[in-house]
Amino acid sequence: MKYCRLELDGRAEWGLVEERAGKEWITALLASPWRMEPTTVLGVPVGEARLLAPVAPTKIVCVGRNYRDHAKELGNEVPKEPLLFLKPPSSLLGAGGVVRMPRVAERVDYEGELAVVVGRRIHRLKADEDVQPYLHGVTVANDVTARDLQKKDGQWTRAKGFDGFCPVGPVVSTEVTAAAIDAGLVVETRQNGELRQHGSTADFIFSLRELLVYITAAITLEPGDLLLTGTPAGVGPVAAGDEVEVTVAGVGSLRNRFAAEEE
Ligand code: MG
Repeated sequence: MKYCRLELDGRAEWGLVEERAGKEWITALLASPWRMEPTTVLGVPVGEARLLAPVAPTKIVCVGRNYRDHAKELGNEVPKEPLLFLKPPSSLLGAGGVVRMPRVAERVDYEGELAVVVGRRIHRLKADEDVQPYLHGVTVANDVTARDLQKKDGQWTRAKGFDGFCPVGPVVSTEVTAAAIDAGLVVETRQNGELRQHGSTADFIFSLRELLVYITAAITLEPGDLLLTGTPAGVGPVAAGDEVEVTVAGVGSLRNRFAAEEE
């Protein structure tokens, strides 16, 4: 199943995305998809919907430097333990949304990532436990980062947390399993159509299970929470007017345009 979130009559609604007669349609749902109580309200063609981020997390937990080649490209050591940080839910943006680059930042980078959506509360996951029952699905994210502020501030809250710095979508797919993530999903980023990042989740330094064990020893994850799993090598700066497209094979392509901060 593929789920999205869309704006209908000024309200955020959940939707089920299905192909019918060669066209993708959204069926609006009355309940959040992890409750699995869908009720049809009406159908909307995907191309005509205003898509929102297809998640409603209480928190967005992120992992830094989880691909060896990306850790090295910024001159950092390969971490011995997962490097965690948070992005605020206010940074979420849907597919097609415009990322506003704050004037205070001199360099804003894209970071294409696989994101995992939690389906069941996870508290102190055991090292030998199967993670699959705890997952709702996966989606595509761009961990937008003000690179100069990340260095200047000494911690990453502002650099990673501006409004709109977490584009996610277009859909959550429940068809991708934890085993498929371990086996390797291709994550690619294109800037104005040029390939900038190409990685595989098989090259994670810490596997999804290791990440969830480490995270939930400290932080209980709730249904709907989002985990950004890190970015492969090839991060780089964007300019106003650029379009960045992050693709996770079998899940979807997340496209966003970047623009200068509004007056
Ligand atoms: Mg990142």
